[in-house]
Amino acid sequence: MFEISVRQEILALKAYVPGLSIAEIQQKYNLAKVIKMASNENPLGMSPLACDAVQRHAAMGFRYPQGGNPRLAAALAQLHGVDARRIVVGNGSDEIIDLLIRILAEPGVHNLVCFEPCFSIYPIQGRVCGVEVRRQPLNDDFSFNFDALLARVDANTRLVFVTTPDNPSGYCPPREDVARLAEKLAEIAPACLLVVDEAYMDFAENEPESSLLASGHLPENTAFMRTFSKSFGLAGLRVGYGILPPAIADYCWRARLPFSVNILAEEAALAALKDATFYALTMQTVRQGRNALTVGLTALGCYVWPSAANFVLFKLPENTLGAEDCFEALLRRGIIIRPLKSYNLPNHLRVSVGNEQENRAFLLAMDEILLQNRHAEADAALKEHK
Ligand SMILES: *Cc1c(COP(=O)(O)O)cnc(C)c1O
Repeated sequence: MFEISVRQEILALKAYVPGLSIAEIQQKYNLAKVIKMASNENPLGMSPLACDAVQRHAAMGFRYPQGGNPRLAAALAQLHGVDARRIVVGNGSDEIIDLLIRILAEPGVHNLVCFEPCFSIYPIQGRVCGVEVRRQPLNDDFSFNFDALLARVDANTRLVFVTTPDNPSGYCPPREDVARLAEKLAEIAPACLLVVDEAYMDFAENEPESSLLASGHLPENTAFMRTFSKSFGLAGLRVGYGILPPAIADYCWRARLPFSVNILAEEAALAALKDATFYALTMQTVRQGRNALTVGLTALGCYVWPSAANFVLFKLPENTLGAEDCFEALLRRGIIIRPLKSYNLPNHLRVSVGNEQENRAFLLAMDEILLQNRHAEADAALKEHK
């Protein structure tokens, strides 16, 4: 006999809700073509150099990767101008986030602090690890109140998470504010690590001005997260990395599963770093597309939050259909965006920047959906009048 006995924290868990996949929607609505603007992936696909590297190294699939991925760590150290001993690569930055929680926080004793809403991996992995998760609501405009965040920190806080630019809003705080947060945290909680998740920082209008990492000033108590999933177009291959205080990086390497970054992912990442053309084109496409979506949605009467990332958060005009209905109407037209119920934002929608055609198709569909809704409302009003 087998009686399933699962830890209390796991019983209470809700699974991470990912964006819908193209295959799911093609099948459900019997569509030939589906556009996915749901998961902040690269609108240009994969870097051709990375694609070529995967193909060239495919036959190496029988080998274990080199322990510690030293070539990739060295390349990343060079990219960011930091010591290679600070770099830990993982199966997406999700893995590094999980590792940091497991390394630093004692289950049932310590806590972590993050905003509400925020990227859902922090609270989910916190709970998986049996760590109390403390949430500070964002300001109404989705900006950060760092003093209120700090007020939730106590002697048992081991991690504070900040995403900049933020997901799902695209908000990017001044980097001086993040530096000041690190400073104050060091004063009130010397055992606490500040995790600054810069997954979308490349897309900011002025990365050197916005990024604490790029400023070269790395506070002792601060870890930076970056990923190949967005700007480098490798979401499906799963490579992310942390730039960590060297001692913490060392513990991460000890605790990490030895081969979590596979041999093809490593080759793809190394090649993507060399593909300056693809990277530059990605930046140009995302910045132009972000602007086009913002202008287009605003013209349709939507409220669009300013975004420094490769997506925009928006709200539909008043007196129209609900966010969920709009999401469904887009699905029927073969366009997947992201409803934000799982972020506790049932009235908001997030759309990832696509390529030029995709952005145009999305805006056209939105125009039709909002117009149809106005006609339906007018018909209903007319009937009532009769
Ligand atoms: C997409 C994203 C990541 C990256 O996740 P990977 O595991 O590297 O794919 C990290 N943080 C935030 C806030 C994200 O949105």
